[in-house]
Amino acid sequence: MADSKKVIDIIGAVASKIEEKKDELTALDQPIGDSDHGINMARGFCAVQEKLPELEGKDIGTILKTVGMTLISKVGGASGPLYGSAFMKSGTAMAGKQELTSGDFIACLDTSVHAVEQLGHACAGEATMLDAMIPALAAMKQAESSGRSAAEILCAGSAAAEAGAESTKDMIATKGRASYVGERGLGHRDPGASSFALMMETIADALRR
Ligand code: ADP
Ligand code: MG
Repeated sequence: MADSKKVIDIIGAVASKIEEKKDELTALDQPIGDSDHGINMARGFCAVQEKLPELEGKDIGTILKTVGMTLISKVGGASGPLYGSAFMKSGTAMAGKQELTSGDFIACLDTSVHAVEQLGHACAGEATMLDAMIPALAAMKQAESSGRSAAEILCAGSAAAEAGAESTKDMIATKGRASYVGERGLGHRDPGASSFALMMETIADALRR
């Protein structure tokens, strides 16, 4: 599916997309949070972008671990440690690999879901990034078991992440800052679920090309 050079290209595309959609992500964090999700994510991924040249030629595990450590060190909000630990633990799972298969990608997302659940003490249905991640994981496993191509698997994951992010409008948040607004959060999309859907869309687009 992707060699380490392609993985670096994809991470670069994700960083550019986050920067492009920074204001939209921040706007989502306004009614239910503290209006910084886009700013946080863009700060983190801008630092990631700067590290990419020195990652050329490194194995995929090292690349993902570096992304995770950079997000943890640069992002102040809750999303930094959560995404950071997801990337770091995925990096550990991919140690030494020069090629990422669709099965590896699914394993990374599986690892990421567990990392966020563990660190965030969160589960499905609490209006967090997990509500985009968990459906994406299920859809990708389903697509893989029906023998789909890598591009199709990622496309299925992207569609499910987007639907999952949209479904957070109907959930009352019980984790993170959004839990402070309670029922007033109904009708609003979770910013973290939205940034995850955006990442999946970018990855799926990159693989189609
Ligand atoms: P902060 O909430 O510190 O301002 P961000 O605005 O960058 O940080 O990120 C908020 C997002 O982080 C939320 O939209 C949600 O998806 C995710 N999040 C926050 N707390 C948790 C948690 N305990 N478990 C899982 N995800 C969480
Ligand atoms: Mg915030």
